[in-house]
Amino acid sequence: MHPRLATDRDELPQLLAAVQQHAADVLSQFSERKVVPAAPLPEPAPLSARGAGLQAALEEFAARWEPALSTSAGPRYLGFVTGGVTPAALAGDWMTSTWDQNSFTSLDAAGQHLEREAIGWLRSLFGLSDQQRGTFVSGATMSNTVGLAVAREWLGEQQGVSPAEHGAGALGGVRVLSGAAHSSAAKGLSVLGLGRRSLVQVPPQPGREAVDLAALERALAEDEGPCIVIANAGTVNTVDFDDLRAIAGLRERYPFWLHVDAAFGAFAALSPEHAHLVDGLDLADSICIDLHKWLNVPYDSAVQFTRRPDLQTRVFQNAAAYLGPLGDTPDTAHLTPENSRRLRAIPAWFTLRAYGRDGYREITERCIACARTVGDAVDSTPGLQLLAPVRLNVVCFTLADDPTAERLSALTEQIVDEAFLTPTVLDGVPALRAAFSNWQTTATDAHRVVSALRAAVHEL
Ligand SMILES: *Cc1c(COP(=O)(O)O)cnc(C)c1O
Repeated sequence: MHPRLATDRDELPQLLAAVQQHAADVLSQFSERKVVPAAPLPEPAPLSARGAGLQAALEEFAARWEPALSTSAGPRYLGFVTGGVTPAALAGDWMTSTWDQNSFTSLDAAGQHLEREAIGWLRSLFGLSDQQRGTFVSGATMSNTVGLAVAREWLGEQQGVSPAEHGAGALGGVRVLSGAAHSSAAKGLSVLGLGRRSLVQVPPQPGREAVDLAALERALAEDEGPCIVIANAGTVNTVDFDDLRAIAGLRERYPFWLHVDAAFGAFAALSPEHAHLVDGLDLADSICIDLHKWLNVPYDSAVQFTRRPDLQTRVFQNAAAYLGPLGDTPDTAHLTPENSRRLRAIPAWFTLRAYGRDGYREITERCIACARTVGDAVDSTPGLQLLAPVRLNVVCFTLADDPTAERLSALTEQIVDEAFLTPTVLDGVPALRAAFSNWQTTATDAHRVVSALRAAVHEL
């Protein structure tokens, strides 16, 4: 054995204690550390021939790379939709790597059973029925892509062909209707051979991102045959929600596959005041929910639900003599794009076991309250303009005067030590978003963001 490796093996308990101490030190700084530090990025270094051992690797990582890392798991990183890592999820992630299970086959089945238990808990958390079968994937983009792959196979079933066997070309023209689809849906359609251009934007309601039902019905009536509808439960800009129950009801008159992108919006189900926003979610044929956002498990984790695991297996089956059988409860190797895969259910399992439904309700409601605080403050600050009501956990706003991308970028630069916000464009207007989905964010953080924003607008 290489001497460095042998030493690390022999000193593993002490080394892990040092790593644990380092992690604890880092985490204890999160609420005060600069959100996006200005430290320069290190120059790439050459590969070491001899190796330096774990302790030296940790020291070099801490010295060269950590200063440049953003505090994205901290309480005031409000860009995109970003979650942190709960204490239990962190422990779960350590256990994932400690056990390093390849969760893909029932020939070594415990990992898959743990995964199914966690899926059951998630189903219960979001109020989904047993008809929704779930699998862990690496993120919402992958969850949307898998959902759309199952939808593609369903279209084939309607036409008496199998795109999984004969290719996407076996389908006639495919139309995918959506009011405000997330960009990842177009990416998924590209990967699936359906093409980005199969996505047809249906007009939203005036001043909203939620789809106009009458316009959707007209678009469905124009279609010759079955199509796919992507309903949105929580758009990224203004967190708008399509009327899921009404859309699902349209299937009585028009044949379509209903995929719901509820990447973070699904968490509305945890707040009694907001649960109506996702009423009807369970009626979907497939559902995307991200876990590395509001569940606050580490990257990379999301869940994909569908009512048609049989079609999912047609698409993703990896039939080989050495893998497990397909059967009624197919192994995950037959359900997701990956074959070998980490047991990423463990962090979700840990955090759900540790904090339960009530813990997640508290996180969700606190994030919503923070968004409201910032939204109300933006609304009452001269120089700032709220662009949409705060429906859930995102504040979408701009400058009241001359809202150019440059001026907004100057504003975010001013506050970047204190909070990280990301730009967007809403109806042609450059804007900013502040998204709350971290378990650590409190009212104090919301007030700090407000103070930083007010000072920066004053300076502009
Ligand atoms: C974040 C997000 C996605 C993409 O998620 P990734 O985890 O980054 O792949 C898709 N849809 C919605 C609505 C999202 O918010």
